[in-house]
Amino acid sequence: MRAAVYMGPGRIEVREVETPRPGPGEILLKMRAAAVCGTDVRIYLRGQANVVPPHVTGHEICGEIAGLGRGVRGYEIGQRVTSVTAIGCGACPTCARGWTNMCPEARYIGYHFAGAFAEYMVVPASAVAQGAVIAAPEHLSDDAVALVEPLSCVVNGQEPLHVGESDTVVVIGMGPIGTMHLLLAQASGAARTMAVDVEPRRLEIAGTFGPDEVIDSSTANVVEEVKRLTGGRGADVVVVACGVKQAALEAVAMAAMKGRISFFAGFPKDDPTIALDANAVHYRELAIHGAFASHRAQFERAMALAAEGKVDLDALATHHFDLDGIVDAIETTRRGDGLKSIIRFD
Ligand SMILES: [Zn+2]
Ligand SMILES: [Zn+2]
Repeated sequence: MRAAVYMGPGRIEVREVETPRPGPGEILLKMRAAAVCGTDVRIYLRGQANVVPPHVTGHEICGEIAGLGRGVRGYEIGQRVTSVTAIGCGACPTCARGWTNMCPEARYIGYHFAGAFAEYMVVPASAVAQGAVIAAPEHLSDDAVALVEPLSCVVNGQEPLHVGESDTVVVIGMGPIGTMHLLLAQASGAARTMAVDVEPRRLEIAGTFGPDEVIDSSTANVVEEVKRLTGGRGADVVVVACGVKQAALEAVAMAAMKGRISFFAGFPKDDPTIALDANAVHYRELAIHGAFASHRAQFERAMALAAEGKVDLDALATHHFDLDGIVDAIETTRRGDGLKSIIRFD
């Protein structure tokens, strides 16, 4: 088969490798679509501790079951599926609650395990045993199925925020993830949504997804602008979908009484400390939540949101490449052109 083999920072070789066979408990997927994630870009540029070259990355998956290992039940050849990314140990108290993404021993498809940027991939037995392979409804496109993974992370991020009908929701950072946050907030019935970014071309795209307000933070004072637009009350929900510390502080400053905040994006690893106004949290009864990856129940929720037409994932699939175009796809994502770049295998 053809595979995009990551050989170290800045080096990916698309070449012939041996087609994997499914061992006991494993499922072989013939890939149909694989989307490029921001983390695929970071691995390509700088490497990542959990990715040891030579390795195939990619974890936003739409595949067709092409082989079932001994002992696998409940799946059929030809079924179109995606897979959960974070595979827990299956034995600890965190895994017992279904939070495989929080398992201290979690391993990830496309990081520890071979991923989706190849014509075939094997879903490991530990993943299959945890029900990580999830069937897709027929009417969803291959692109949409591949984009269930990032949407599941957004579902994870918004679960503790309880977005409802009286809420004003501000999303800071309008990349593909911020855009999905906007769409999910709309699907949850938010009264009003506001999209914030520093880049006018990002805001132009974000504007096509129906936010009530678009705020250019390169020219406007975002906190003042959100306060002005809400009659001084502030935002009920703020999602920080960019790893910028200033945005985290702005989120706290713009939050209304009983505001809920998500630190969705990771912050700089070598410099993550912020000077938080603890009294703002105390007197305004703010709740600040983290978010990291997602688990199976959130994949199922994301699949249902897409299947019911509540979140239009196809609208995010702006660029398509074949496997030989993998570096182009990664570069397109790095430049922030459009929203999602997708590798197609037909
Ligand atoms: Zn991803
Ligand atoms: Zn565990």
